[in-house]
Amino acid sequence: MSSPAKIDVVPHWVGGRAVPGSGQRSGEVTDPATGEVTRRVAFAEPADVESAVAAARAAFPAWRDTSLTRRTQILFRFRELLNHRAPELAALITAEHGKVLTDAAGEVARGQEVVEFACGAPHLLTGSATENASTGIDVHSIRQPLGPVAIISPFNFPAMVPMWFFPIAIAAGNTVVLKPSEKVPSAANWIAELWAEAGLPDGVFNVVHGDRVAVDTLLTHPDITAISFVGSTPVARHVYETGTAHGKRVQALGGAKNHMVVLPDADLDLAADQAVNAGYGSAGERCMAISALVAVGDIADTLVTKIAERTRALRTGDGRRDSDMGPLVTRAAQQRVTGYVDAGESAGATVVVDGRTGRFDADGNGFFVGPTLLDHVTTDMTVYTDEIFGPVLSVLRVDTYPDAVALINTNPYGNGTALFTRSGAAARRFQNEIDVGMIGINVPVPVPMAYYSFGGWKNSLFGDTHAHGTHGVHFYTRTKVVTTRWPDTSGSGVDLGFPTNA
Ligand code: NAD
Repeated sequence: MSSPAKIDVVPHWVGGRAVPGSGQRSGEVTDPATGEVTRRVAFAEPADVESAVAAARAAFPAWRDTSLTRRTQILFRFRELLNHRAPELAALITAEHGKVLTDAAGEVARGQEVVEFACGAPHLLTGSATENASTGIDVHSIRQPLGPVAIISPFNFPAMVPMWFFPIAIAAGNTVVLKPSEKVPSAANWIAELWAEAGLPDGVFNVVHGDRVAVDTLLTHPDITAISFVGSTPVARHVYETGTAHGKRVQALGGAKNHMVVLPDADLDLAADQAVNAGYGSAGERCMAISALVAVGDIADTLVTKIAERTRALRTGDGRRDSDMGPLVTRAAQQRVTGYVDAGESAGATVVVDGRTGRFDADGNGFFVGPTLLDHVTTDMTVYTDEIFGPVLSVLRVDTYPDAVALINTNPYGNGTALFTRSGAAARRFQNEIDVGMIGINVPVPVPMAYYSFGGWKNSLFGDTHAHGTHGVHFYTRTKVVTTRWPDTSGSGVDLGFPTNA
């Protein structure tokens, strides 16, 4: 009888090396395309978090004082290594998340853009100086790092979301403790090893795995100065409230419900293509996925027919094969998504394309749901009110442009939205009137470039700083203003009055 295959346990990464957890708790990591448990991941106890924070704290003084030249050399080396080895990271993402390989490679490329942005740290971190602010007095400002910072990331972008933050945090002289999603842990360790190879000193980048225990220990730890969180809205709210109550800077990006409005004058073939791309890419497990399509006027029947044709042609299967769309991340996610489709149907939505059943190109028992198109969805149905986070595109029909704007502005989320039209005037009005942080005009997934900042409004972001771009530099530094005088005579006379300029 053969013995069962040994299952690896993904360790933490502390002070430049892999370390096992101090406790007994661990979680299953699955291959979503086959349903198999492929490894386990250690769940941190408070003592594990304590040692990661201690490593980050110990590394901070020397890293803060490392010259910008040296820091950016390490960033450039990290970039080069990542360019060469990106396919390895993409394969790791597909094996644990399920998204198709091309999509995983795209995620790595978007993360790499933030590394490239951070390579400009010497320019990004410049302060300002004023000569003769008052007679013989100069003023200058400098940006300094905060100390050890924590990054807590979701399952859907195991590489890109941490990379929205850590390149800038590290370039600015901070040290990092990353707590990735326990569903997709291996990318973080792979990245930690790459940093070591690039020459980053031990303790500057640490990884602890786990669940709420790890997160809450970070949120309340006195040595953690700032928290960058990305995940669902209830957890984002908890992170923001707890982290700020403990005196930390917090940026907490939450969930989404993104609408795509199609006006009657739009190119309907373009709109149909893009609705399919944005609705079903990454099986809808993107915070910028389109989940509600708002058809304005009398175009809905034609548009739904065009979207349905394209949807039926999609191939769903193992992301390592020639599939357009992969599985969902877990069995629970699969069941949750099919449950929403059931509920939508019971509430009166028309199931135009039904992904609850179908043929999937994969071995084993993966977590598949095919692309699903619902029509005649109304705002009281749970398929509309809740974030489904799966390959379900709901069509809502409204009569006028103001109806579409009112619908979006009433929604509690405000991450991304898109307008499809040929009218510049309508586009201009839309970008002015809509209460959403990221807007696409004939662009369905308007993810900002690394040198702009990424962030939603309303329940999609708690805090006032978005990710990366100048917001990222601002978040990971604090300014100090120095006022200087070099008198050429000793003594200036005692004067307790308020300083005035002369
Ligand atoms: P999640 O909120 O379940 O988990 C996010 C992180 O929080 C993970 O590291 C997880 O371990 C931790 N966590 C989970 N429950 C917790 C709790 N009760 N207390 C403390 N920590 C907890 O999110 P997810 O399912 O991993 O990711 C999907 C969600 O993330 C979706 O809502 C999606 O919209 C959102 N998301 C948002 C953005 C954005 O930029 N706004 C980007 C990507 C994903």
